[in-house]
Amino acid sequence: MPGKPKEKAAPEFVPARHPMEKYLRTERLPHIWCAGCGLGTALSCFLFALDELGWDLDSVAVVSGIGCAGRVAGYVRLDSYHTTHGRALPFATGLKLAKPDLHVVVFSGDGDLFAIGGNHFIHAARRNIDMTVICVNNFNYGMTGGQLGPTTPLEARCTTAPYGNFEPPFNLVYLAASAGATYVARWTTLHARRLQHAMVEALSRKGFTFVEVISPCPTNYGRRNRLGEGLDEMRYYAEHAVIRHGADPKEADIVPGKDFLIGKFVDMEKLTYLEMYRAKVAQLKGKR
Ligand code: SF4
Repeated sequence: MPGKPKEKAAPEFVPARHPMEKYLRTERLPHIWCAGCGLGTALSCFLFALDELGWDLDSVAVVSGIGCAGRVAGYVRLDSYHTTHGRALPFATGLKLAKPDLHVVVFSGDGDLFAIGGNHFIHAARRNIDMTVICVNNFNYGMTGGQLGPTTPLEARCTTAPYGNFEPPFNLVYLAASAGATYVARWTTLHARRLQHAMVEALSRKGFTFVEVISPCPTNYGRRNRLGEGLDEMRYYAEHAVIRHGADPKEADIVPGKDFLIGKFVDMEKLTYLEMYRAKVAQLKGKR
């Protein structure tokens, strides 16, 4: 008599693990970012950079402002602050002055860092506070519905610029270099390994270091400007991003439809705020 057909054993379920999982608060996942957004790539590059540096994780603190990029502070398994809008840099400055041995990283977006936070940015750079700022620039306020921001290119459309933007935007690498940043680089989320390398360099340099990450926001900026899906924006980067290390930051304007510069613009050393402070204290003590 034919026996009962044997039931096939169910394949063993092996959950996929992300190689950088140890740096993530996995209990907070899934994240809130849209499909095709570049923020996951930017965060991943940062985690790979940390892994490459091999620092004691207790020596690293991440500070974010408000917006889609600001969510990073909540996802990293590090000491982190998710601060008020535009105020990531004052929080980070306080942290660095109170605990000079900490590696302080600010991870935030273009609207947060350069609109309401713009004044803090130029003064932190001018003072050469020893920290790294990673700015994910997607040319609009993504989280709040796609409003015009300080990096929105001329003629680009946003919810608050339905007929096209007429305000000249900031060129972030020029702004950072002019304000005194000691390291300035720009990459896109397409250039993931180069971006990771730039993050490693910026994190390991002394002083105020800045990495701009050009990133797709298909839900808002991309949709309103008919740029297609996130992958289409990556194709656009492949066609229009021109790597030129050491280029004059003045030439790094971003104009829709035209080529734009990426690479390392500034890499120099100068005394940090804390070094100058300590030198002043020593000088005053010597006079007593
Ligand atoms: S709104 Fe834009 S920036 Fe925000 S998660 Fe979605 S795609 Fe990314």
